Amino acid sequence: MRSTIFLMLSMILVSSGCLDSLKDELISCENSVGECRYEILQDGKYSKLHIEIDYVSGYEPSSEAIDLLRQRINEVTDKNSVTISQDSFGSTDNSYSLQEILDIESSQRTKFKDGDEFVIHILYLNGEFEDNENTLGLAYKGSSFAMFQEKIEDAAFLFISAQDIEKAVLVHEYGHLLGLVNMGYTSPHDHEDPEHPHHSNNEESVMYWAVESQDFYNQLDGEPPNNFDSYDLDDLNLMRQGKL
Ligand SMILES: [Zn+2]
Repeated sequence: MRSTIFLMLSMILVSSGCLDSLKDELISCENSVGECRYEILQDGKYSKLHIEIDYVSGYEPSSEAIDLLRQRINEVTDKNSVTISQDSFGSTDNSYSLQEILDIESSQRTKFKDGDEFVIHILYLNGEFEDNENTLGLAYKGSSFAMFQEKIEDAAFLFISAQDIEKAVLVHEYGHLLGLVNMGYTSPHDHEDPEHPHHSNNEESVMYWAVESQDFYNQLDGEPPNNFDSYDLDDLNLMRQGKL
């Protein structure tokens, strides 16, 4: 009897160790898009933000787009420091599944949240997203998204440059990491497009669905928007203040 109790106790002790790591894994904001919104917007837990960018050689981000992202981050968060690092890697693939994107992030990403610094990871890829060839950008985890830079270059036409499109897609995917629209919270404003969940119904918002699709030129007049609209900004402000 005593040995049975001892065995049961040791089993509970062993499994509670496993449970702890499982719990960490389950409650980590990294697991789903929008879940790290407070970590990114507020400065209480993380006063610094680092952006790690890994790009396929030849498909590096434009400095203008990175500058705009930094500007948008400064406009909507309380961070007292925003740093950016970039590195290239080679790829022989040209059509990426979500699993392949996750694997590439695992092999390329070097920085993770630590101490008072939160880290966002951005992959710049050649080729296309296997599930939808119109995809220009894809937010797939709480702190990471991918940019399909070759598709962005292909989408440029007439007076709309690849850089204009890249700026809009970059801010759009960043907006998804912040929870826009209605990812894990409910906005006091009626601005989610019922036809395209988690996107704005305002085509002048960077969170309009067509911004991340090669279809945008059928849906938008002129260059895609690269700024949040007043409802997006109000949501972000309320979340930043902990009121939403
Ligand atoms: Zn989107």
